[in-house]
Amino acid sequence: MRIGVLSLQGDVSEHLQMFARLGVSAMEVASPGELSHIDGLVIPGGESTTIYMLAESSGLFEPMTQMIKEGMPVFGTCAGAVLLARRILDGRADQRSCEAMDIAVRRNGFGRQIASFEADLDISVIDKGGAPLRAVFIRAPIVESVGPEVETLATYKDSALTEPTPVLLKQGTMLASSFHPELSNDTRLHQFFVEMVKEGSS
Ligand code: GLN
Repeated sequence: MRIGVLSLQGDVSEHLQMFARLGVSAMEVASPGELSHIDGLVIPGGESTTIYMLAESSGLFEPMTQMIKEGMPVFGTCAGAVLLARRILDGRADQRSCEAMDIAVRRNGFGRQIASFEADLDISVIDKGGAPLRAVFIRAPIVESVGPEVETLATYKDSALTEPTPVLLKQGTMLASSFHPELSNDTRLHQFFVEMVKEGSS
């Protein structure tokens, strides 16, 4: 089993380090041919407009989108979640997404005044009675709507928000977080994705 990390822009090395710490084989994916060597894909945090444009110009966008829709496990973090979304709000006019996960996300939706923050999240699928996960949010997208097939695995709420907002979502073989699990020391969410990939390749 091998996991690919889309290596066009963003937190690529941080994701690779997480898999190295877990003893899981991982490789950079920067060209279409490399997609045939992987069982699951991470789309990292970074800048979704840049990642989209580079995916398009490298010829990765269409085959990657097709493989995701055919059930290759995928984990999109922050900008990666934007790329998975069915609909992008406040996107650039020429920005596209894979339209794979039934969520609508608003780019930079937490607003400038709280552009970056950290929060402890309770995530029952990984914490098993243990500690919450320290989540790093950087100019994060807000998930504004969630389709019926999407499970919300964690929410975040602060005084600026009237309702808890979903920040970790799963739809079948797709996982998306509006925060950056690759920027903490906690490997539990990467381990959770590894289990999804193992299930997908068995
Ligand atoms: N705001 C960025 C975007 O829309 C995402 C930020 C991030 O990945 N930290 O692409």
